[in-house]
Amino acid sequence: MATCTLEEVSEVKHWTETLFSFKTTRNKSLRFQNGHFLMIGLEVDGKPLLRAYSVVSPNYEDHLEFLSIKIPDGALTSRLKLIKPGDKILVGEKSVGTLVIDDLKPGKRLYLLSTGTGLAPFMSIIRDPETYEKFEKIILIHGVRLASELAYSGYLTNELPNNEFLGDMVKSQLVYYPTVTREAYKHTGRLTNAIRSGALFQDLNLPSLNAAEDKAMICGSPAMLEETSQILNEGGFSISESRGRQGDYVIERAFVGE
Ligand SMILES: Cc1cc2nc3c(=O)[nH]c(=O)nc-3n(C[C@H](O)[C@H](O)[C@H](O)COP(=O)(O)OP(=O)(O)OC[C@H]3O[C@@H](n4cnc5c(N)ncnc54)[C@H](O)[C@@H]3O)c2cc1C
Repeated sequence: MATCTLEEVSEVKHWTETLFSFKTTRNKSLRFQNGHFLMIGLEVDGKPLLRAYSVVSPNYEDHLEFLSIKIPDGALTSRLKLIKPGDKILVGEKSVGTLVIDDLKPGKRLYLLSTGTGLAPFMSIIRDPETYEKFEKIILIHGVRLASELAYSGYLTNELPNNEFLGDMVKSQLVYYPTVTREAYKHTGRLTNAIRSGALFQDLNLPSLNAAEDKAMICGSPAMLEETSQILNEGGFSISESRGRQGDYVIERAFVGE
């Protein structure tokens, strides 16, 4: 069982009926790498009920932020969705995860491919100055069903490019590509189709994927991970097989099971 600290909720934002995010205090001794996840949760019937959550906030901030699904009968999220500022949540003291840029071979472009809450770990990675030192271009792709589920799109489009410290790097190196499957939007359809058809590269005026120059991180549903990994494998990309072993791409499940 993970050792936890009690942290206080400072802000809660409900994006849609199925999606919310929240900020909490951060224990001073908590260390994590951008892209990592923590076990977080609530005490239920006197016992900790914990689930894995990617950290949205970068590791230099003194608060923590998480993006969460609301599963109607979900053991944790049916309760967690009710939290409000001042409430306490459990946060595990040990961070882990495979989405770390150190496990990628050097490259020119970094593709961050996400669906749903799979965006969460990339929110910290795109606010890590090291990401911009290691790659010339960072392409953040977020696939959702409805445009309202494009969490942080206003922040990514309007605020982050004007950030005092990161703004210049973001403006010249970060490309945000949101795509929606179930209604009209600027980009529509599944991100895997956008890659296979070449629409993604045409829209962004970038060369199509090649393993020598491009590296990737993937976070989404088990089905999305499987299809995206297949596309990369077909393109000659090698996966990082374990922590500390560099590959052309790394993956992490945004959740387990269907
Ligand atoms: C490495 C890792 C990182 C994770 N990071 C996050 C995160 O940042 N944000 C987050 O909301 N969840 C994340 N999850 C999922 C999270 O751990 C829980 O599954 C989620 O909070 C639901 O918990 P629950 O007890 O309410 O329902 P559970 O009993 O855990 O899940 C019930 C069912 O809901 C579906 N489900 C669970 N999570 C999601 C999801 N995120 N999106 C769509 N369907 C889902 C699955 O089909 C699952 O079988 C992560 C999971 C893993 C393994």
